[in-house]
Amino acid sequence: AKDKGKNRVCFYTSDINDRLHHYQKIGALLRSALAADSLQLYFQPQIDLHDGSIRSCEALLRCFDNNALPVPPDIFIPVAEKSGLINRIGDWVIEAACKQLVAWKGTELEKLRIDINLSGKQLTNQHLADQILQTLHRYDLLPSQLGVELTENEVIGGDLEQIGQLETLKNAGVHISIDDFGTGYSSLVYLRRLPVCSLKIDRSFLHHAMENDSDMAIMQAIISVGHSFGLSVVVEGVETAEQDDLVKALSCDLAQGYLYARPMPAEAMPAYLLGVTGD
Ligand code: C2E
Ligand code: CA
Ligand code: CA
Ligand code: CA
Repeated sequence: AKDKGKNRVCFYTSDINDRLHHYQKIGALLRSALAADSLQLYFQPQIDLHDGSIRSCEALLRCFDNNALPVPPDIFIPVAEKSGLINRIGDWVIEAACKQLVAWKGTELEKLRIDINLSGKQLTNQHLADQILQTLHRYDLLPSQLGVELTENEVIGGDLEQIGQLETLKNAGVHISIDDFGTGYSSLVYLRRLPVCSLKIDRSFLHHAMENDSDMAIMQAIISVGHSFGLSVVVEGVETAEQDDLVKALSCDLAQGYLYARPMPAEAMPAYLLGVTGD
């Protein structure tokens, strides 16, 4: 910003170089993480607001740089999507979630469903649904032990073939959630046609609902629409006791957020669940 006028071209050029550099650096990091098998899944519990029980958790991907510092997925997922690495990474996530479910067998966590995030790009692979079901089968797992989360735009942007894949998954028993609900442009007509089990309300609504009547109205509307379609409604980003009171008053079904637990490595899950159930 300090160089205006004749240096403007230079400024923009270096900006593009910076972005290219960033893109290449993250891409290389992802490739080496795949090669070294050093990606990691963290898990964040979803709390059933009716009885306080925990029967599902979301798997959130973590990638660490050369100094073992985490690179946020909001940074590396877009690079993975643009570079085509998302399919390999997505496959890694499916495999890792299944391995975790196997590792939890016979422990107090064996009833826990793992919900993975899918990128819309992965749904363009026509064999994705079959591949997921085959992987579950190979690990001797039930489809109901896995869930998938997709944003509304990823599903709605998709063609009938992609929706057919979600139908295959749902019919087999895989839990399907629409992620970041309310931020896209789905209409109620779409919602009725989509094979869906849950809506996850984007955390921005909850955070604004505390101060803003229209965001509060949107939240109420989403919850009642979800319920009238027979879907369970999950609220993301519950950080404070006030927000927790609000989501309970609005009769949300499940909550996820820092108030309950931050995403954690699998090793931390037994101690967390023990603390919650207290036995
Ligand atoms: P998302 O699917 O909407 O995941 C929820 C994000 O909110 C996670 O960020 C989670 O750590 C964060 N979060 C949870 N509770 C709270 C809270 O109380 N307050 C606040 N401020 N944040 C909270 P994270 O882990 O950084 O992931 C960001 C995004 O990256 C995810 O958003 C998802 O879109 C994407 N992502 C993560 N893992 C994967 C993956 O395996 N595959 C794909 N395709 N995308 C992924
Ligand atoms: Ca998600
Ligand atoms: Ca979300
Ligand atoms: Ca998101």
